[in-house]
Amino acid sequence: MTFVAPTRWEDALAEKAARPDAVPIAGGTDLMVAVNRGGPRPDPLLDLTRVAGLADWSQHDGRLRIGAAVPYARLVRELTALAPGLAAAARTVGSPQIRNRGTVGGNLASASPAGDCHPPLLAAGAVVEVASVRGQRQIPVGDFFTGVKRSALAPDELIAAVELPVAPGPQEFAKVGTRNAMVIAVCSVAVGLDPAAGTVRTGLGSVAPTPCRAPEAEAFGAAELADRGLWESRTPIPDPVAVRFGELVAAAAAPIDDVRGTAAYRRHALAVLGRRVLVRAWLGYRTGAR
Ligand SMILES: Cc1cc2nc3c(=O)[nH]c(=O)nc-3n(C[C@H](O)[C@H](O)[C@H](O)COP(=O)(O)OP(=O)(O)OC[C@H]3O[C@@H](n4cnc5c(N)ncnc54)[C@H](O)[C@@H]3O)c2cc1C
Repeated sequence: MTFVAPTRWEDALAEKAARPDAVPIAGGTDLMVAVNRGGPRPDPLLDLTRVAGLADWSQHDGRLRIGAAVPYARLVRELTALAPGLAAAARTVGSPQIRNRGTVGGNLASASPAGDCHPPLLAAGAVVEVASVRGQRQIPVGDFFTGVKRSALAPDELIAAVELPVAPGPQEFAKVGTRNAMVIAVCSVAVGLDPAAGTVRTGLGSVAPTPCRAPEAEAFGAAELADRGLWESRTPIPDPVAVRFGELVAAAAAPIDDVRGTAAYRRHALAVLGRRVLVRAWLGYRTGAR
């Protein structure tokens, strides 16, 4: 097996251009599981862990740029205030070992419908920055996933970073699994509030072939908060509004029965989680926690 370990981003892109079949490896927490299960042995293997700058993040003009190789543990440690939804999702991933190795870029590239970064990135309106020797592309995260474990990444492209606004308001993430930790989501929901814009955004995981949003729930939530003057009064969201929001979140899903849960259970759980994340985010807004 050929193992290539560039230290410069340009060299990594040149390697990928010369050998589009080269398989990138970051944390290896998806890739090595597949190899050890008897999957194809990647050759050449393109190690991204030594590429300068790929594990950096920065903040500029109200936007965050998070390098593809930033691991979950650092999202939790360093970005809880700036990207609370993504940090909350990162906190639920795997175990400490997986959170130390697993990266946001690896999660995106694997493009699993159950990937925990995807719902908060959708709710935040993130953009995936991909690059090749041909140049750079900015792909809205909603267009990045093209099917189950399929993405818009071309064979010669690598994920450089993900970009998102610094959280304009409260963000929440909740996930149901078959146990408390080390678990792939049965379903997950993220929500983000933008008080200045008066918007509510969502992201849903593990309930459709690709991670998706719930546009009707978003429109309903924004209209109710505005029409009832709740942004100004900061009073609690009436129960029927929160319940209806959850129902609309569930209605946006196209779940299947699989080993982790039935479609019916996923719909039920989504309605509960949708209501819960909205109420929690609203509490954050009311109490000025964010
Ligand atoms: C025990 C265990 C528990 C887990 N729990 C969770 C969980 O709770 N939630 C969850 O979402 N996931 C979970 N995972 C899956 C995995 O940890 C995540 O998907 C992780 O983010 C993968 O990142 P990585 O850096 O390890 O990717 P790798 O395994 O290195 O790579 C994954 C894929 O992405 C490609 N790739 C990596 N980086 C790039 C790049 N910059 N550009 C282009 N392609 C790239 C690789 O070629 C490969 O196809 C778990 C895995 C294990 C083993």
